[in-house]
Parts: sequence; C-alpha cells; structure tokens
Amino acid sequence: MTAPTIGVLALQGDVREHAAVLNECGATVRAIRKAEELTALDGLVIPGGESTTISKLASDLGLLEPLVQAVSNGLPVYGSCAGMVLVAREVLDGVPGQATIGCIDISVRRNAFGRQVASFEQDLDIACIGQPMFHGIFIRAPWVESIGDKVQVLASIPDNSAVGRIVAVRQDRNLATAFHPELTDDRRIHSLFVDIVKGQA
Ligand code: GLN
Repeated sequence: MTAPTIGVLALQGDVREHAAVLNECGATVRAIRKAEELTALDGLVIPGGESTTISKLASDLGLLEPLVQAVSNGLPVYGSCAGMVLVAREVLDGVPGQATIGCIDISVRRNAFGRQVASFEQDLDIACIGQPMFHGIFIRAPWVESIGDKVQVLASIPDNSAVGRIVAVRQDRNLATAFHPELTDDRRIHSLFVDIVKGQA
C-alpha cells in the first residue's frame, strides 16, 4: 500500500487539523459523515472536540452502528482526546447513555484532569516513537483509568499530581491519545498510525 486512504470523522471537532497532518504523512484523506463513506477506507481518525456531541450526532445520523461494524471488521482507528472517549469500552463521567465504539478495552474518565489543569502541556516519553520527548497538548482531556490485558500503554503522565495516569494506548491496530498531536508540528503519532494502517508498525 503506497498512499492509504484515511477518513477523518467529520461530525464535530478539529477535523481540518487532522486532515492536514495526515496529508503530510502521505495519506489520501476523506471527511466522513455518512455510513457508506466508511467502506472505501484503510483507516479512520476520530478527532478531538466534544465526545458527547460526536456520539450523539453519530447516533442520530445512523453512523454509530456502521462505525462499530467497520472497526470490528478490521478498520484501524485512531482516537484523539474526545476520540479516545469514543473508542473506549467504558466512559466514566459521561452523560447518561453516552455510546461509544468500544474497540479499545479501556475505561476512560472524561475531563479527568479537573478544573485547575483543564488545559496544560506536558512532554511525554513514548518509547515506540523514540526521542525526543513528544510535546503533549491536553485540552479538557480524559485519562485512562484501567486497561484490559490486550492493551499496550504507550505513554503516561509523569507528573506528581496525576502519577502514572495513562494518556496513550494501542490495542492491535487501534490507537488512542488523550492529547492533541495535530496541534503541534510533530508528525510522529500520525506517522505511527499511517504505518499501522500500512501494516508496517
Ligand atoms: N472534554 C471533551 C470530551 O469529553 C474532550 C475535549 C477535547 O477533545 N479536547 O469529549
């Protein structure tokens, strides 16, 4: 596969920023708003934004079930921030009935870092992308509170106020980060996802 086709779920959130980075990483990018658009994809990104809104719009547009189906049929997905909430098996501090795709076996707490540190930046040591550290931008971010056996932890917050909080995970060909790599110039997380899609990572 030379140029994989990667969709960005375009219901709400920072769709354009992800599309631009994926383009730079060599992917052909499509904005996804309808179930039938999922069939032509090699991978899918779910952007940051507001998970309750994305989830409600996906349900209202009849997109949630096709998303679950596509991902369970092997479509790799990368969820960032609100997208991490969307791919989680369980949401803590969600709204009643908040639905997810549930393809990564993690329990995720929404807005977990609290009001004092609602938005912050933190350098992260992510072994699979190497040095230098990755500059993580967190905006009303979730954290991962528990993980299943098949989940690989890629990054945790080293900070004393939230010791060991997991903020990046991978399960098979699915990836999630609590932070926003599309808001930095560092392409390594998107490159990792493109490599996963190509079967090269
Ligand atoms: N707090 C938002 C949510 O729960 C996520 C924020 C973000 O994506 N920047 O969906």
